Amino acid sequence: MPSLRPVDDKPFTDLHYQEVLSSFRRRADERLAVYVHVPFCHVRCLYCACDTTVTHSVEKVDQYLDALEREMDMVTRLVGRGRKLDQLHVGGGTPNHLNEPQLARLMEILECHFELSADTVTSIECNPRRSSVGQLELLYGLGFRRVSFGVQDLNADVQRAIGRVQSLNMVRDVYYTARETGFENINLDLVYGLPFQNQRSFLETLGQILELAPDRAACFSYAHDPSSRPHQHAINVNHLPSADEKLALFENAVKAFSDAGYRWVGLDLFVRETDELFDAQREGRLYRNAIGYTTMPSTQVLAFGPSGIGEVGDALVQNEPDLRAWQKRVNSGHLPVAWGRQLSEIDRRRRDAMLYLMCNLQLPASSAADLEQEYKRLCRNAEHGLVEVSEEGIRVTSKGRYLLRGLCGQQDDLVDWGSSQWRFRVPS
Ligand code: SF4
Repeated sequence: MPSLRPVDDKPFTDLHYQEVLSSFRRRADERLAVYVHVPFCHVRCLYCACDTTVTHSVEKVDQYLDALEREMDMVTRLVGRGRKLDQLHVGGGTPNHLNEPQLARLMEILECHFELSADTVTSIECNPRRSSVGQLELLYGLGFRRVSFGVQDLNADVQRAIGRVQSLNMVRDVYYTARETGFENINLDLVYGLPFQNQRSFLETLGQILELAPDRAACFSYAHDPSSRPHQHAINVNHLPSADEKLALFENAVKAFSDAGYRWVGLDLFVRETDELFDAQREGRLYRNAIGYTTMPSTQVLAFGPSGIGEVGDALVQNEPDLRAWQKRVNSGHLPVAWGRQLSEIDRRRRDAMLYLMCNLQLPASSAADLEQEYKRLCRNAEHGLVEVSEEGIRVTSKGRYLLRGLCGQQDDLVDWGSSQWRFRVPS
């Protein structure tokens, strides 16, 4: 039995999750998304904050796929097999670390348990260094229509310092191949706050990215935390930009994307003006779930693979993050729950308010009745010009926008909602 987070003096166990999933079976008309975590990479980037394992063993990946199939068997036995999917996202790790037969098998496993249609929004994260013409064609043929490539930075000094060398020519080739293959939405990820990054070099990277004209681009903040990610010890802190320089890097990114006609959505995403996410943000109907920003409210998320976070009904559940522990639990016939929480009424209100603030940059005054403390705490940020408070509610200012992560992240002891990748705040 893993160490489970106590909730109301009771642990959230795999048995609780079984109940949650069984009751979801009766709600067949609810929107459903699936997240699959592929926990493998061919090499560890030094800045990495993901749950992943470096392997070159085909057998190890095959064993993961065997366990994934078992996990989907267990879950769909409870929620019903063949349920229609509104969204599928395959992330990692490096999903395209899988070889071609393994990618085909992954899709086969999914199709055997869920119904994917032309309306299912299908996306996959890819490492450009592992991409090829044949692989992108295969992924397209398997039904993926959105692809996200990790670029991070195109400067050679930065790339060497983070252990991720990929030339502009290679990124360009992969990007245009994905376009020619027919992917409808291409996202490029950047990271700011990396060693050796400076305003000049980052502007150069931004210019090169903008020349490619991706549909979306995310610009994530690097968090240096070698105590929980020991490989980050290899990054020399003296080469990291200061807090002020880091903020200026992000300001430059916002300006570069805005000047090129992109619109800033949520914490760190830039989209074209015609993107549905921008319309949704403008109209106050942008949402965020465990997969990312969405225009679809109340989507249930089933997560598979180590560390995946799911949201079903009022429960938030995270799988065992360690690959071997996850595999062991699945292979012994247990749902691999590591942490979970049946959200109370107040948990739910807090989550909804924080996500609404993050997505729509405002919080109606009516929230104050339910979340008095959190509302007051947010109002105090008006002294620093981060929010404006009126009779209608709280509105994040353009200055506060840069600190939105902090505004949303400090309000809850359950999950860091302000993080680009949700993580349970696990009690020590
Ligand atoms: S490719 Fe991504 S998940 Fe893999 S080591 Fe690099 S940053 Fe981490």
